Amino acid sequence: MSAEDKANGTSTEVPAVLADAQSRLENIYQRLDVSDDARQRLAHPHRLLQFSIPVRMDDGSLRVFQGWRVHYDITRGPAKGGIRFHPDVNADEVTALSFWMSIKCAAVDLPYGGGKGGVQCNPKELSRMELERLSRGYIRGVYEFVGPDIDIPAPDVNTDATVMGWMEDEHNSIARRQLPGVITGKPVGLGGSQGRVEATGEGALQVLNIWADKHKKKPKKLTVAVQGFGNAGYHFARAAEAQGYQVVAVSDSRCTVYSADGLDVEAVHEGKKKGSLKPHCKGKKDQGKILERDDVLALDVDILVLAALENAIHEDNVADVKAPVILEIANGPVSSKADAKLEERNITVIPDVLANTGGVIVSYFEWIQNRTGDYWAADKVSERLEQRIREQAELIFQLSIDEKVNLRTATYMQGIRRITEAMDNRGSQRYFTGDQ
Ligand code: GLU
Repeated sequence: MSAEDKANGTSTEVPAVLADAQSRLENIYQRLDVSDDARQRLAHPHRLLQFSIPVRMDDGSLRVFQGWRVHYDITRGPAKGGIRFHPDVNADEVTALSFWMSIKCAAVDLPYGGGKGGVQCNPKELSRMELERLSRGYIRGVYEFVGPDIDIPAPDVNTDATVMGWMEDEHNSIARRQLPGVITGKPVGLGGSQGRVEATGEGALQVLNIWADKHKKKPKKLTVAVQGFGNAGYHFARAAEAQGYQVVAVSDSRCTVYSADGLDVEAVHEGKKKGSLKPHCKGKKDQGKILERDDVLALDVDILVLAALENAIHEDNVADVKAPVILEIANGPVSSKADAKLEERNITVIPDVLANTGGVIVSYFEWIQNRTGDYWAADKVSERLEQRIREQAELIFQLSIDEKVNLRTATYMQGIRRITEAMDNRGSQRYFTGDQ
């Protein structure tokens, strides 16, 4: 794809991230009896919208940002997935992310298809007011494409509850109706759910706990390094430390902080809020040290947690990985080629499409609460989250044993099986030719 095509997301070639994401399907199709109809439908997104968002900047100038929203598959229900604000957002990436959302929602049996959205921008260079105008402009661009029964956006990279609140407000101002179920991950005061902010990180920890239980590993004996200290990485690290895991490293887009004695996650987070990551270690003279940003990937730890962006581990750095277990909290952090190399080395990957489902599961709970008007206490949310993750993860772990496949393949098999069953339920060639 040319650089220009990449920038405006208009290439007609099959682009890189999406092609990489879809390349995993062949392996799944070989193991499942998937109809040709379903294969064809899963090869392309259901629909993709690209639109311009004109924003009046604080200095009076106008900037036009590019926005996207993709519904990859809507066979099992309305599209569901986050909106990210990032300089690298393009049509290819958003489509790949919406493909993963389709697999993910089906893998944990949510009544949703997969969607995703994004704006190509650098939110770090925008003022609060510019960010609000951009968020509201996004909704004006996507208005007919979203709705509680059409597509329900949520937070993703660089978007949070405040952004979702602005978006909900803009949507409902246009609709002249209160429709809180149009978006999830909102502030609690605007109909958001208790526990949504923590859900992705805490859900990932629950999946890790299930893995640890099955392998008779005690958290206190496990060292953990976390790449990415945004919402999901921070809440994972905080909850993991509280359960006794030794969180020895975390990193952000600038550096890695490391302490062999275990970091004080809350203190590191406080430091980050004030400007930059600094090592902090409870009750020790030696507070640890600062390493290069990517050093986190090569640390000799028991669990490497990937909570930043896609393609963090690729063909060129996969050989550096020393951890025997990788937990994927970001979407698509290991390329398919790197994944094959990890498998050759017997490195266990607990995949994104299972490990990071806590966020979308609590989004589902939020949507239920918005639609019924019955709001749940925090305890009920965490109880239901744990129950859903345990139930669905147990099925996937068992499938991986029965089929002798890794956890990613088992999760894809579970998701694809549910999606293609719903496709076939609507009528398939086999049905019309009388073969079933
Ligand atoms: N952006 C999150 C994800 O990738 C959450 C999606 C949602 O809650 O709809 O899973």
